[in-house]
Amino acid sequence: MPLLQADDLFRFYHPGDTEVRALRGASLSVSRGETVALVGPSGSGKSTLLACIAGLDEPDGGMVTIDGQRMTRRPEAERAALRAKSVGFLAQSDNLFAHLSVADNVGLQMELRGTRRNFQTISGLLRSVGLEGRANAMPQTLSGGEAARAGLAVALAADPPLLIADEPTAEVDRETENHILDALERRRTSGGATLIATHSNAVRLRASRTVMIADGRIVTADVSQDTRVVS
Ligand code: ADP
Ligand code: ADP
Repeated sequence: MPLLQADDLFRFYHPGDTEVRALRGASLSVSRGETVALVGPSGSGKSTLLACIAGLDEPDGGMVTIDGQRMTRRPEAERAALRAKSVGFLAQSDNLFAHLSVADNVGLQMELRGTRRNFQTISGLLRSVGLEGRANAMPQTLSGGEAARAGLAVALAADPPLLIADEPTAEVDRETENHILDALERRRTSGGATLIATHSNAVRLRASRTVMIADGRIVTADVSQDTRVVS
């Protein structure tokens, strides 16, 4: 059974008197140990799909299950509980608490998932993203690339069964992109499932599969190495 199963998702928005059909029967599954790149033009429904999968939004139709647990058609509190247990969400500018140092942000995340915080694990995580010298830095003193890597360390500290990332490399330097790609590779070898919306070819080349979305539907379920578009 895939870790993530999303079946026939519909999501319509109603701004003003109009209807925007953001998802129109989107289906997708991701197995343990897979890194799936989700690509598609702007407005094709990527963010809506990720939000419905993470339980941050409720689709109008269809079903999402994660690790055999239903994410859709449940009260928000139950979705939040399932999300806390099974899903990590890495956005472009991540969730660092401004009053906590980089190391404390990572440590807090470990505590939240019930792991005892531990100097060695925190140091190892910071080293893996190239932030070993910045453990005691406060978030507002970080450069853009450093902040992105700190956000990544926080997401990795949670070590969620399913990691969802929305354009994680969009605004980062090459070095940070490499750290992100290496971290995704490590997740893959340790059996984690990762779903990344991306425009980056570097990300696609390191993914197990590329899935394309257009007009709210998955149009290519599996793009092989040779048919990858190079832009
Ligand atoms: P629903 O379909 O759930 O009722 P709405 O269509 O009312 O949702 O939109 C939810 C919110 O998103 C509104 O506050 C709206 O202003 C905002 N919004 C409208 N159009 C867009 C858009 N194209 N992209 C992002 N947000 C939008
Ligand atoms: P992508 O992430 O691929 O750019 P989105 O999921 O953000 O696509 O958007 C899909 C479609 O839904 C777009 O037409 C967008 O304008 C519209 N949309 C997204 N969020 C909202 C919202 N809250 N209210 C109304 N329309 C929205």
